[in-house]
Amino acid sequence: MPSGRTHDRVTLWSLPILAGSTLLVTSRADLAFWVSSGFLVSGLIFGPDLDLYSIHYKRWGKLRWLWRPYQQALKHRSIWSHGPIIGTIGRIIYLSLWVGLLGLFLLGIAQFIGIKTYTGQQLLVILQQSIAKNSAIYIALFCGLELGAMSHYLSDWLVSTYKRFAKSKATTTPFRNLDARKSTLKIVSKPKKVSAKSIGKSRVK
Ligand SMILES: [Zn+2]
Repeated sequence: MPSGRTHDRVTLWSLPILAGSTLLVTSRADLAFWVSSGFLVSGLIFGPDLDLYSIHYKRWGKLRWLWRPYQQALKHRSIWSHGPIIGTIGRIIYLSLWVGLLGLFLLGIAQFIGIKTYTGQQLLVILQQSIAKNSAIYIALFCGLELGAMSHYLSDWLVSTYKRFAKSKATTTPFRNLDARKSTLKIVSKPKKVSAKSIGKSRVK
């Protein structure tokens, strides 16, 4: 598995290419912005490795505890966190649940104090209207999030495949191993033993 820093590098190096290609395909700067933002967020803090103690998890700072149940429920690199599309949808639903809970809690407090606010239902209607009105932006954002996750899956897969290949090559070439062993034996046997007798002899001379 590549390190978190390697994933960061992959994200940052691919970002200009992604932004440029989106602009070229859609001819819309706003969509290029949303795809790139989603890609960056997914690559840096909202990625599949939230299912373990990772750099993504640590970047949530004081809010990192939000992801503890997620980690406990999922095995690292399970299909629910590392599966194409399903992983991103799962994380969006998971975070939306927390946001919803937190929103309800704040609404409860506001109503308790006597502040007039929107009800939960009104907020849902506002969200639905916003999605209907800006569907292209929401789709662009989702595509960016998914592409960020996909660059992660791809790097994970490439590094694991390379490691497996290197390991199988090492085990299927016994002669090379034998040569390596011989060379280490030579290195080990190089320093000559200096006995007390020889020291004595050299002193006498
Ligand atoms: Zn991973």
